Amino acid sequence: MDANATTPLLPEVLEAMRPCWMEHFGNASSIHLDGQTAHKAVEHARETLARFLNCRPVDVVFNSGGTEGDNTAIFGMLRPGDHLITTSIEHSAILQAAQRVAERGIEVTFIAPRPSGLIDPEEIRRALRAEKRPDTRPKTRLISVMLANNETGVIQPVEEIGKIAAEAGAFFHIDAVQGAGKVKLDVQRIGCHLLSISAHKMHGPKGSGALYVKRGTPLDSLMVGGSHERRRRAGTLNVPGIVGLGKAAELAMESLEEGTLRRVAALRDRLEAGVLDLSGTGVNGCWDGNVRTPRTPNTTNIWFDQVDGEALVIALDLKGLAVSGGSACHSGSTEPSHVLMAMGLDKNRARASLRFSLLKTATDADVDYALRAIPEAVAHLRAISPVAAGTVG
Ligand code: PLP
Repeated sequence: MDANATTPLLPEVLEAMRPCWMEHFGNASSIHLDGQTAHKAVEHARETLARFLNCRPVDVVFNSGGTEGDNTAIFGMLRPGDHLITTSIEHSAILQAAQRVAERGIEVTFIAPRPSGLIDPEEIRRALRAEKRPDTRPKTRLISVMLANNETGVIQPVEEIGKIAAEAGAFFHIDAVQGAGKVKLDVQRIGCHLLSISAHKMHGPKGSGALYVKRGTPLDSLMVGGSHERRRRAGTLNVPGIVGLGKAAELAMESLEEGTLRRVAALRDRLEAGVLDLSGTGVNGCWDGNVRTPRTPNTTNIWFDQVDGEALVIALDLKGLAVSGGSACHSGSTEPSHVLMAMGLDKNRARASLRFSLLKTATDADVDYALRAIPEAVAHLRAISPVAAGTVG
């Protein structure tokens, strides 16, 4: 139950990739038959991605995954004197890139979420820097917001943000790494200029991804060298990775149409309800006032009172259940999740929160097992917890 960290290849993806290593191993830039076979496979994947994103095939730039797409959007769009608006709940691939450009004379505004984890589009509107003079480009050059949060699954109102970006004449990048394959993507409807996806979050291979680049977007490439990908990303094409991404996108579209994700949402809801039967538990990012927060169908983030999150991750791992703490390890010290902290959780509750993220192949038996393992592990940890015993305040 850690699908937001990564997913296994689906068998069809492996089968699609298999010939690309030893039989049709050509360099997609070579003009001979082997090269042209590889080139055709790449272009087939590009067409699939174009359907997946609702864009033209030439707008798809293949790369090494979400981190590269995110970095390219930030480093490739911004120059000293520009203003960037992003959020405080982004993945570190955006946050660290934003921090780096901030050191290079770019002004960065980080928008905090509401307690629900939702970004208020009006906050983005308020943060916009107007044009200095009509003949200069708008001061806010780029807005970068994630589609779905990796820790809570909360889905951001990207269409509304897209409209605000368009009105302001700002470019708009979406980190869709956690949304791809879980919700339908449509770059035309959203009105974004750039959008990052990663194959390994949607049953494709690791180290493969794509960046959608709208025609006319003045993006500098991160990698320079050969003229691959219409000079937008230099480097010999990772043909097996691209073919795997294409197949994963094709299967993801089928899953979305077949209602697989509705089945996953029902499993997630049953898991969530079962865990909430335990005392001292609650969901992070589930309600916005009295309205349900839109979330990806596979994710829930739950706090457990009087339990250390890391200890619970280990206890569940010993029972064969892989989940993730909402915390990142920085040089040995466990920091509470920046996402949960930004949503206003106190440090203890943030440390006591776990993310459960289901694979689309998850079954009822998986949820049954988790609903036996979690109460046992929580009861055990609470029994030995000095906080629960009242020996520590
Ligand atoms: N963006 C988000 C929201 C993610 O969850 C991740 C991976 O966890 C990334 C970007 C980075 O993607 P990749 O692992 O392909 O570099």
